[in-house]
Amino acid sequence: MQHLPDYVHEPQALAGQTIHCSCGLTHTIHTQKIVLAPGAIHQSLESGLSGTPLIIADTHTWAYAPASFHSLPHYILSHDPILADEYTLGDLLIEASVQSVDYLIALGSGTIGDSVRFLASTLHKPFVNICTAPSMDGAASQHSPLIHHQFKTTYPAAAPYAIYFDLDIMAAAPAPMLAAGLADIEGKHVATLDWYIGHLVTGEAYCEPIRDLTMASVALCEQYCDGLAAREPQAVRALATSLLLTSLAMQLNVTSRPASGMEHLISHAWENYAIRQGLSPHLHGDKVGLGTLIACDVYHAFFHTVKMPQQERYAPLVRHWNELTEKADALYALKPLIRERIAKAGGPVTLSALGISRQAAVYGFQHMTDGRPRVTIAHLIKELQLEEAIYPSVLESIL
Ligand SMILES: [Zn+2]
Ligand SMILES: [Zn+2]
Repeated sequence: MQHLPDYVHEPQALAGQTIHCSCGLTHTIHTQKIVLAPGAIHQSLESGLSGTPLIIADTHTWAYAPASFHSLPHYILSHDPILADEYTLGDLLIEASVQSVDYLIALGSGTIGDSVRFLASTLHKPFVNICTAPSMDGAASQHSPLIHHQFKTTYPAAAPYAIYFDLDIMAAAPAPMLAAGLADIEGKHVATLDWYIGHLVTGEAYCEPIRDLTMASVALCEQYCDGLAAREPQAVRALATSLLLTSLAMQLNVTSRPASGMEHLISHAWENYAIRQGLSPHLHGDKVGLGTLIACDVYHAFFHTVKMPQQERYAPLVRHWNELTEKADALYALKPLIRERIAKAGGPVTLSALGISRQAAVYGFQHMTDGRPRVTIAHLIKELQLEEAIYPSVLESIL
């Protein structure tokens, strides 16, 4: 049996691992090479993949391309705004089809990584993910959040063959991206508790070593996050390591469950609202940070006001009520700390600071469980028709 949390100090060692876990399941990392280092981009042509790559970038990320990239086939997305949507994917599909390509290289986190991950799985080509911004934790993901018909949803995609986290590039990222990365990490306090609740209610698999790995990576990030505003190298490294590890935790678990709960659901609903209204998108992590602060209040309200009905579905929750109330109280006690850390890094801690209107916020509360079957605290509130009892006061405190 392998003890996963040791990997917090050496995420590269997870590459290609098959882990016979104490939870009874076997977990696999399909990514064969992981490099997290200053100047990592310069090693990215030595991933072990052979043949001709097609490098996909945008005008911002192409500025990081080393000289060795310039003579290779490349495509620089230049429309505005670049979203992971039908237009970008159609554009890339045409480009990748007319070139003789053996594998793809995504030069850029976020939209480019999400698009190339889906394209690679569609074309049955391996891909290399070069991460340039420490703003979200999707690097190792096997899923792509895509916008289709003005609605963002998650599609199965390919895990990257190799991942490069270039700490030099990340340290130079705009300050709001560092704050957003930290806020995405803070969301794991909620996500892991939602995972446990879902496990109790539905019996879905719950792996404690993967949960522990996720939370150990959160602790690493929090240990150094005071230095993020000043871009201290140790703080940037800890944040990048934490984002990489949580993305690997998702690959180990095959789903985003270890890293995504109610705080992500509400952020996705706000995003869909913004897409439909034609508003410019906010950074993913910023919304997740606000969703996390909201979830702290929601958990507290739920476990201090609700009397569970006598139904078989809820019996495991009733049995674990004291334990869950303690966890909800611990989460609530963390809220001021989480808020302070995000604020110190320069991230938004109110909806108005991010430009989310009351109307958009309400939409988020109303639609966060739409089409998302995985049980979270938000699902229990909906099932028990407790929205009006819990959400209005929570909303007032975050506007
Ligand atoms: Zn396990
Ligand atoms: Zn996230």
